[in-house]
Amino acid sequence: MKVIAAAATDIGLVREGNEDSYLVDEPLFAVADGMGGHRGGEVASQLALETVEKLFRKGEGDLAEQVQEANRAVFERSVEDRQVAGMGTTLTAALVEGDRIRLAHVGDSRAYLLRDGELRRLTEDHTLVHRMVTEGEISETEAEAHPQRSVLTRALGVDMFVDVDDDVVQVRSGDRLLLCTDGLTGMVSEDEIKEMLQHVADPAEAAERLVRSANEAGGVDNITVVILDFSDDGRAQDRLAPVARPKAPAEKPAKAPRWRAFPWKRMAIWVGAAVTVIVLGLVGLRAYLDTQWYVGVSEGNVAIYRGIPAEVAGFRLHHVVVETTIPAEVAESLALYRDLDQGITADDREAANAIVEQIRNDAEAAQRNGPGP
Ligand code: MN
Repeated sequence: MKVIAAAATDIGLVREGNEDSYLVDEPLFAVADGMGGHRGGEVASQLALETVEKLFRKGEGDLAEQVQEANRAVFERSVEDRQVAGMGTTLTAALVEGDRIRLAHVGDSRAYLLRDGELRRLTEDHTLVHRMVTEGEISETEAEAHPQRSVLTRALGVDMFVDVDDDVVQVRSGDRLLLCTDGLTGMVSEDEIKEMLQHVADPAEAAERLVRSANEAGGVDNITVVILDFSDDGRAQDRLAPVARPKAPAEKPAKAPRWRAFPWKRMAIWVGAAVTVIVLGLVGLRAYLDTQWYVGVSEGNVAIYRGIPAEVAGFRLHHVVVETTIPAEVAESLALYRDLDQGITADDREAANAIVEQIRNDAEAAQRNGPGP
């Protein structure tokens, strides 16, 4: 059996970094979706895939055992390095062995098999909502929109040991395997994924088109896609229906199905993200302003301010902490304090007090000696 592989990954439209990683090293293929602040996610997904690849190359253990070792490597790093403490990653790997694929899987990335126009999910999500679905507490549809749908029940790097799902799947010529992170499946329906896998023959183009669809639907997460085409002769399958081929280039599958219903879910995600950004911005600004001090003028007198001597859109970014009895006019008559009304910044409150004391002394001296030259 011959394999033609292609992959695509993208940061998406919302995230600040791409914490997904993928591995394409025939006959070993994988995707990993890292999580954890301060580059932790990126480190976790890369380290996991590097570990699996290294052990595979050395011939140590089977795929599930290699994933176990990857878990240990990520866990140990997260314990040793405070910068990446608490990181973790999903991992979905496929090893091609003749006409079989060996799968190993932890987390909510997925493997799908497209055969004869049917798209079959080969992996089970290790998420809270999936558990709730299997226990009959909520429906599949409810799970898709559930606010906690990305909460994992299993991930690599969280504990010393992890349960790895493993499976063996027979493949035949014409089959197409998809490995993807939840940045795809969270944004694009399985029907749309199937459509695109069925109709775009070139695996690289299909991968790119899937990523683009996820971005067009909002791209709220990193998106990673690996596609494997299996054939006896190593040639790409002609997947296009004869009618569809000439008139269905770039746009069609991306356009048609998406606006069936108003995407409340996506809008809620966007609004939520925007509110979070604004709130974090304000909290950060407030924290910053609280560390800033300066000496300026209030009601004609020298005063100590907290914040910065500026206004943004009518909001003053400062408030008076102490108003002295030193007339600003007297201070401003001295060359040193000429620009007092624009604020003299201080490192902290003590420094601000010191500046006020200095102004007081200089002003008193000036008044004793009469106006300077
Ligand atoms: Mn993700």
